[in-house]
Amino acid sequence: MNSLFASLPTTVFETMSRLAREHDAVNLGQGFPDDPGPLDVREKAAEAVLNGWNQYPPMMGVPELRRAVSEHYRDWQGLDLDPDTEVMVTSGATEAIAGALLALIEPGDEVVLFQPLYDAYLPLVQRAGGIPRLVRLVPPHWRLTEEALGEAFTPRTRLVLFNNPHNPTGRVFGRDELELLARHCVRSDAVLISDEVWEHVIFDGLTHQSVLSLPGMRERAVKIGSAGKIFGMTGWKVGFVCAAPNLMRALSKAHQFLTFTTPPSLQHAVAYGLGKDPDWFMGTRAGLQRSRDRLAAGLAGIGFSVLPSSGTYFLNVDLAPLGANVRDEEFCRSLVAEFGVAAIPVSAFYAQDAVESVIRFCFAKTDATLDRAIERLEAVRSRALAG
Ligand code: GLN
Repeated sequence: MNSLFASLPTTVFETMSRLAREHDAVNLGQGFPDDPGPLDVREKAAEAVLNGWNQYPPMMGVPELRRAVSEHYRDWQGLDLDPDTEVMVTSGATEAIAGALLALIEPGDEVVLFQPLYDAYLPLVQRAGGIPRLVRLVPPHWRLTEEALGEAFTPRTRLVLFNNPHNPTGRVFGRDELELLARHCVRSDAVLISDEVWEHVIFDGLTHQSVLSLPGMRERAVKIGSAGKIFGMTGWKVGFVCAAPNLMRALSKAHQFLTFTTPPSLQHAVAYGLGKDPDWFMGTRAGLQRSRDRLAAGLAGIGFSVLPSSGTYFLNVDLAPLGANVRDEEFCRSLVAEFGVAAIPVSAFYAQDAVESVIRFCFAKTDATLDRAIERLEAVRSRALAG
C-alpha cells in the first residue's frame, strides 16, 4: 500500500457528519446547503437525462458548457478565455486540483500552500512528489504578508496552490495581497493553481478577482471553479479549469486518465445555469449573507467571539476568550455529543503549528436550522456559567 494514503485519517467532514447523524445533531459541520438548488437548473438536468445523450461526451467538456464558462467569466470577472483551448470541464474541483498537481509537479518541486488548508491539498501535493512549503495564516485577519511569502518561496518553488475566497476562514483576499502573491510567482517562475470555487459566494458588495486578471498571471495561472458551489448543489461534482493553452495541454492529459469525462446531462444543465439572470446570482448571495448575519448574531448573543466572514458558507468562532485550555477538537466533540450541534475544528486544516482555538460553522442553512442550532448552543453558556 502507499504509506501516505494508508496512514491518512478519514476526512474531518465525513467524521463530523457521521457524529452528527449518531447524535441526531444539527449539522453545521460539512459545508452543504439545506436548499435543494435552483429548480430550473435541476429540471434541465432531468430533461437531459431523459431525452439527451447519455454516452461519453467530449473529453474536454460539452462545447455548450465550455462556451458558457467563457461567457460567464467574461461577464462576471472580465476574463477573456478561448472556450476551445482554455476551458476544460472536470468531475468537480477536487478532480481539477488533483489533475493539476499530477500534471504540473515534477518530483522534488517545492509547492507553496497556505494554512489553514483544505484537507485534500497536502496529501495530493505529496503523492504527486511535491515538497510542501507552508505559509501559516493566523486569526483574526488571516492576512498574506510579505514576510511569510518571502520565507516560503525559494528558487526551487515551481507551484503555488491557493484558495480565494478562502475555506475555512471565510476570508476574501485583498487586491494588495493578490498582487503580492503574483509578484512572488513571477519572481520564482512558479505556476499558480487557484481554487476559486467560492467565487460567487461573497458578501458585503465585494467582487471576485480571479488570479487570471493579475499582472503577469494570465500565462502562469490555473483557475478552478465549481458548479456545485455556484448553484449550491455540492453533489453535482462539475468543475471547470481555465488556463492558457500551454498549461491546458498538460492538464488535459491528467484529466483524460483520471475521469475522462463528466456526466453530459449535468454539463448541459450547468451551461444553462451559468447564463441565468444576474439577479439570481445576486439574490443567492443576499440570501446567504442574511444567513451569515443570522448565525453571527445568534452566536454573538450567546457570547461567542465571532470572526469576520466575507465569503464561503462558513464563519468561525474564536474560543480563546473561553479560556486558554479550550481546544477546538475537544470542544467540537462535546458540542456534537452533549449539545447536539456539529461544527468543524479548524486545527484539522493545519499540517503543523495548528491554531487550536477556532471552530467553523456552516451557515448555508434555513433559518429554522440556524435557530435550532442557536437554541441548543444557549446551553453551552448556561453550562459555562454553572461551571
Ligand atoms: N467543501 C466542504 C467543506 O469544506 C467539504 C467537502 C467534503 O466533505 N469533502 O465543508
